[in-house]
Amino acid sequence: MSKKHVVVIGSGFAGLSVATHLAGESCSVTLLEKNETPGGRARKFEHQGFVFDMGPSWYWMPDVFEDYFARFGKKPSDYYDLIRLDPSYAVIYGEQEVLDIPANMDEFKAMLDRIEPGAGKQLDLFLEQAKYKYEVGIHDLVKRPSRSLLEFASPGLLVDMVKMDIFQSMSKHVRKFFKSEQIIRLMEFPVLFLGETAENIPALYSLMNYADIALGTWYPKKGMHEIIRGMVSLAEEKGVEIRYASEVEEIEVEKGLAKRVRLISGEKIEADIVIAGADYHHVDKHLLNPNYSNYSEEYWDKRVMAPSSLLFYLGIDKKLKNLRHHNLFFDEPLGPHADAIYKNPRWPEKPLFYASVPSITDSTVAPEGKENMFLLIPLAPDLEDSEGMREKYYHIIMDRLEKITGQDVRSHVIYKRSYAHSDFKSDYHAFKGNAYGLANTLLQTAILKPSLKNKKVKNLYYTGQLTVPGPGVPPSLISGQVVAKEVIKENNL
Ligand SMILES: Cc1cc2nc3c(=O)[nH]c(=O)nc-3n(C[C@H](O)[C@H](O)[C@H](O)COP(=O)(O)OP(=O)(O)OC[C@H]3O[C@@H](n4cnc5c(N)ncnc54)[C@H](O)[C@@H]3O)c2cc1C
Repeated sequence: MSKKHVVVIGSGFAGLSVATHLAGESCSVTLLEKNETPGGRARKFEHQGFVFDMGPSWYWMPDVFEDYFARFGKKPSDYYDLIRLDPSYAVIYGEQEVLDIPANMDEFKAMLDRIEPGAGKQLDLFLEQAKYKYEVGIHDLVKRPSRSLLEFASPGLLVDMVKMDIFQSMSKHVRKFFKSEQIIRLMEFPVLFLGETAENIPALYSLMNYADIALGTWYPKKGMHEIIRGMVSLAEEKGVEIRYASEVEEIEVEKGLAKRVRLISGEKIEADIVIAGADYHHVDKHLLNPNYSNYSEEYWDKRVMAPSSLLFYLGIDKKLKNLRHHNLFFDEPLGPHADAIYKNPRWPEKPLFYASVPSITDSTVAPEGKENMFLLIPLAPDLEDSEGMREKYYHIIMDRLEKITGQDVRSHVIYKRSYAHSDFKSDYHAFKGNAYGLANTLLQTAILKPSLKNKKVKNLYYTGQLTVPGPGVPPSLISGQVVAKEVIKENNL
């Protein structure tokens, strides 16, 4: 059998994953990336000794990364060194209310008991269920292509679905175990990664608490982009040809088959199979003739997108105090901010925000005696994003950060770059300027997500955070793996 030529669009986690899985004896793979560097949302940039991760900063679910590299006879440590953070992170509820989250389970339980007597014991019960969900969810459910209900129709799995709490909200679930508002917010925080609030996320996702509390928060030395560097190196070892500055402008279809892709340079690349790891909406609506789109504009408009974000990458000319590697500023109520993201999209009056200072752990990401800081405010997608708004919000959160941590930061900022909706759109063709793809609500789970396969073009597949299994680094890695398996099965490779 002659080798099939697979063209993959986009070098994010999903694109790199699917390309690496397919490269080998039966397929030659060309990966086309519009930007000059790999990684998509997980790119990095450098400025005078400051090394900034542009997107993800939380390394959770280390077993998913181990599983990824093990598929190729490798380990993460062949490519990067991991450190477990302790404290895992800090939650800042107010000026005098800072909670360091210990990595050690006994210390964690003792901390809960101090806030709410008996909560440590409750945590055991909560985590027992969460562990079960993690094992079935991450080791089985997320690996299903979700193309038909039949995939989920075995009696054992139906019993599991009930045990997995698909139909209860995370918010109700947490309140069955804990009463203290502080603990509830702590337990509800991880689902924010899934792009919605705990009221609208199925309790299945308490599996995220197991990932957080039991499996821990890790950090790859030199930054998150090291994962991408490792994946690129593995992809190249496997023979994937990666071409940067190669933006695809059209997927050309003939007789129901994707025949080739056309780059903006005009160059055409023939293909037997095309896999799009770029934002699904962009591929569906802009790279395909409308006759071949999987979904209408109306369908896309009704999707609940995960938030966009306003980000600041800051170089600071002194060491900072009273901050950890990861800091969640929960010093304002979540309700009004969530309303501004999901119900009545607007810039929030009093935003919650996140500050990461990786130079506290890693001296390679900032010059000596200086600090590297990343600030993130989650925002509704598609807001009007102007320089004036960015600056206004910079000062809103800096006022609070300086007051709570008791130091002057602004006058020590020697490098500052902001990033928001319009950057997500221009850099990644992100639908509505989303940062994290599609929210994992009940109505956007499994077979209710945009399909990984085009319904009209037989050899066109989709991967990445807008299809199964969902947003985040581990799911994007798994997405590539799931699509590769489908491609192999359907094309007898
Ligand atoms: C600010 C931020 C913080 C985050 N924090 C975390 C975190 O801490 N932990 C976590 O697990 N997840 C986090 N995430 C989510 C995670 O980064 C994403 O879910 C994941 O990186 C998505 O990978 P992907 O491969 O689906 O998409 P992408 O990374 O967007 O990759 C798609 C690629 O396609 C390319 N492309 C687009 N159009 C074309 C075209 N026409 N031709 C060629 N190439 C094209 C893009 O340039 C891009 O490189 C964060 C995301 C952001 C933005």
